[in-house]
Amino acid sequence: MKDKKYVYSFEEADGTDKKLLGGKGAGLAEMTRMGLPVPPGFIVTTEACLDYYENKKRLPKDLMEEVDENLKKIEEKTGKKFGSAQNPLFFSVRSGAAISMPGMMDTILNLGLNDKTLEGLIKITSDGRFAYDSYRRFIQLFGKIALGVEEQEFDQILNKTKEKVGVKEDTDLNADHLKDICKQYLVVLKKKAGTPFPQDPMVQLMLAIEAVFKSWMGKRALAYRKEFNITPELANGTAVNVCTMVFGNMGFDSATGVAFTRDPGTGENVLYGEYLVNAQGEDVVAGIRTPKPIQEMKKEMPKIYRELERVRKKLEEHFREVQDFEFTVEKGNLYILQTRNGKMNAQAIVRTSVELVAEKLITKEEGVLRLKPQELEQLLHKRIDPNFKGKPIAAGLPASPGAASGKTVFDADEAERLGKLGNKVILVREETKPEDIHGFFASQGILTSRGGKTSHAAVVARGMGKPCVSGCEDLRIDAKGREATIKNTHIKEGDFITIDGSRGEIYLGEVPTVDPEISKELLTLLNWADEIRSMGVRANADTPEAAEKARQLGAEGIGLCRTERMFNASDRLPIVRQMILATTREKRQDAIEKLLPMQRSDFKEIFRAMEGLPTTIRLLDPPLHEFLPSAEELAEELRKLKDVENAFSTMENVSDAMKFLDPAFRESLGLLDHVVTDIVEIKRERLDRKLIRKQQDTLRKVKEMMEVNPMLGHRGVRLGITYPEIYQMQIQAILEAAAELMKEGVQIQPEIMVPQVCTAQELKWVYQLVKKVQKEVEKHYGIEIPFKFGTMIEVVRACMRAGRLAEVADFFSFGTNDLTQATFSFSREDAENKFLPLYNQRKILQDNPFEVLDVKGVGRLMIIAIEWGRRTKPDLKIGICGEHGGHPESVEFAHNIGLSYVSCSVPRLPIARLAAAHAKLKEKEKISLESYDPGSTFGLFF
Ligand code: PEP
Ligand code: MG
Repeated sequence: MKDKKYVYSFEEADGTDKKLLGGKGAGLAEMTRMGLPVPPGFIVTTEACLDYYENKKRLPKDLMEEVDENLKKIEEKTGKKFGSAQNPLFFSVRSGAAISMPGMMDTILNLGLNDKTLEGLIKITSDGRFAYDSYRRFIQLFGKIALGVEEQEFDQILNKTKEKVGVKEDTDLNADHLKDICKQYLVVLKKKAGTPFPQDPMVQLMLAIEAVFKSWMGKRALAYRKEFNITPELANGTAVNVCTMVFGNMGFDSATGVAFTRDPGTGENVLYGEYLVNAQGEDVVAGIRTPKPIQEMKKEMPKIYRELERVRKKLEEHFREVQDFEFTVEKGNLYILQTRNGKMNAQAIVRTSVELVAEKLITKEEGVLRLKPQELEQLLHKRIDPNFKGKPIAAGLPASPGAASGKTVFDADEAERLGKLGNKVILVREETKPEDIHGFFASQGILTSRGGKTSHAAVVARGMGKPCVSGCEDLRIDAKGREATIKNTHIKEGDFITIDGSRGEIYLGEVPTVDPEISKELLTLLNWADEIRSMGVRANADTPEAAEKARQLGAEGIGLCRTERMFNASDRLPIVRQMILATTREKRQDAIEKLLPMQRSDFKEIFRAMEGLPTTIRLLDPPLHEFLPSAEELAEELRKLKDVENAFSTMENVSDAMKFLDPAFRESLGLLDHVVTDIVEIKRERLDRKLIRKQQDTLRKVKEMMEVNPMLGHRGVRLGITYPEIYQMQIQAILEAAAELMKEGVQIQPEIMVPQVCTAQELKWVYQLVKKVQKEVEKHYGIEIPFKFGTMIEVVRACMRAGRLAEVADFFSFGTNDLTQATFSFSREDAENKFLPLYNQRKILQDNPFEVLDVKGVGRLMIIAIEWGRRTKPDLKIGICGEHGGHPESVEFAHNIGLSYVSCSVPRLPIARLAAAHAKLKEKEKISLESYDPGSTFGLFF
């Protein structure tokens, strides 16, 4: 008794087990059970693939025996025979892992063809041309994939024959030409592979299975898994699907095509796809011929079209998901060869989610889960500014939406090279192949001259959310000469073009773009997400306009208003500088009094925009030198001023000399006379000296304030304590703004937040200042002003002392930008362009910790702070306002550790809302906090 079963027929396989059967195999098994017309076949499991690698790349011992048993069953069912000259059976051999990796692994068609079965095929079909064409395709594919012969060896023969015969298209070659090509192919294969083409079909099958296993570790597949983070837990090994061949190229009652149960570009509920009459599947996928839209089938093959409509309905009802399926029509009979969940762009996912819920095929929760927060980012894609009046120079098919501009490049390697140098590029090709994948990663968008909306370029670009225009037939590319023409326009490599993948248009140069709006369906989906999620979502916003926009995008408050942004406004900066440079308390007070009404009006406008919602205002954080010019700048200006002073001294003497000039001549020098008089005046008033002195004072002050490590220096609360007038003014402005709005009847919820706190003593110091100001303001306005007082947690010690900080704070907000800097001791200003890229490349760090929250280190500190803070104050509100607040994985982590809200940049609000809903729905799978939590050490430190 064998301990493992490696091969399952489509009838017996369990179609829910994608891990074992791969996605394609599982789909074939399910469709067979549903009674859809699937040609008979069997699946070699992913387990066999893993054992192949385990076994030093040798097929498992009993595998071919199992294959043979299954083959016999198929022979019985079909009445055909593998290797027979009378009634031959042929197979397609396809890869298929648990996760779909389109085009990344190998497929062999027409397996079983040899000199003998070829005769059978000719007899059955009475079509010598078709049979020889199938044979030459098979020799080429088998030679390339199973025996490693370069494709160009075969292409050369094909092209030479076409030249000799004087035809352009493969389809113009007749049976004799193709027969001759087959002969030549067999010779070149033997020469290059060092072994003859195997005539035994069983040997062909064995080598093909092995070749598919090998392609699992091929360069393309490895790169794809790395890019899309497909770990062994998600997909381990590939299955091999061996399926009876049906021929779409058996004449004009035969066809092949691919279809989606709904439009993958817009989500519209219509059968969508393309087909080619008298062709094989590879022609469609590789984009060699441009196929027809499936709607044309209504007229051309009405019976088949009606059958396809029935298949579409059945597939969706069964899989409760949009399906992407392949079909072939062989002499008027429809066969379904594959189905999988349709890859759609975000817009289509949103629309289909809402409609599938309305059709009661899925629940609201499932509808929300269908849209990944990362994919939602695609909807934040740009489109061409509607006010742009320029005309496109050509049109192709709108294959993947969005607009993008970049330098034209004609091959993937160049795209990668220029992309790495920071250039925006558009990859322009006749058609793309899986080996171009690295070029896709580096490009802003893809443009092809051939192929349809389901060509390789279109499918891959859509999956990546990159704009793509395919099948632009006016585009003539000379890839070797690195140039192209579109009608009369000449485009050289490096010239800028813009593509609009939503409309399928191409423009010359860089065209202005605008950001997208949120559709009605997306609003519905986001509202469902809001109903599901339990964690709040706020925005980081510093201006009333940003606050307004944040509300529109569903923010439930402002989690961080950075007040320094207001200090930097051009009308404020001179006053802020005056405040910083003041040599006496009085002078500083003078500047502060000018700033107070400005800040008050800033806060009033923001509070008003956020009426009814909480608004967290953070007291001043950055080191003061950030508001002053740099020492280098000042020294340079000072040097110039001194030059001017010297020049003035010389000019002063000109005045005396001019007295001796002829009065008529003096008149003609009138202008000079004026200048000289002005200079004399400047010198008398000593204005130049004063200016120089002022500049020298500033330089001295800047030098005094200079710090070696300003980010770890005199900033945040330390600044507030050393310059109490600044914090006092800000607190007064916040409370006065609140009081005035309350008097107007506006509902407000102010929250005052202190940055960079490391000890409860600092927080207490600011708190007493707040209380003092509160008393004065309340007295002045004659009302009580409710507000909350809290601290940022962005210093490691603050995490350690969170229990004490919570005695003073009503809320915590994790400033994970600084907390990451402090935890790693990586400067947030420098690390990202110094060593971090190499760290990521070498996998020393998986991610950039300033982008993706480091849950193992920073996250662990957060858990400690939450635990200790809530021990002191169980209802302590805790949020996060670092950049991580808008990153989907970090949002999920924030939910799992019990944060009250995340606060993120305004454009990322929809992503955070959706990510928070996903986190709630995935709660059951929640990783135990034990894995981050040093629980047993609490007693020690608290
Ligand atoms: C932080 O440190 O995470 C934070 C939000 O503050 P800033 O980025 O302004 O330092
Ligand atoms: Mg900070």
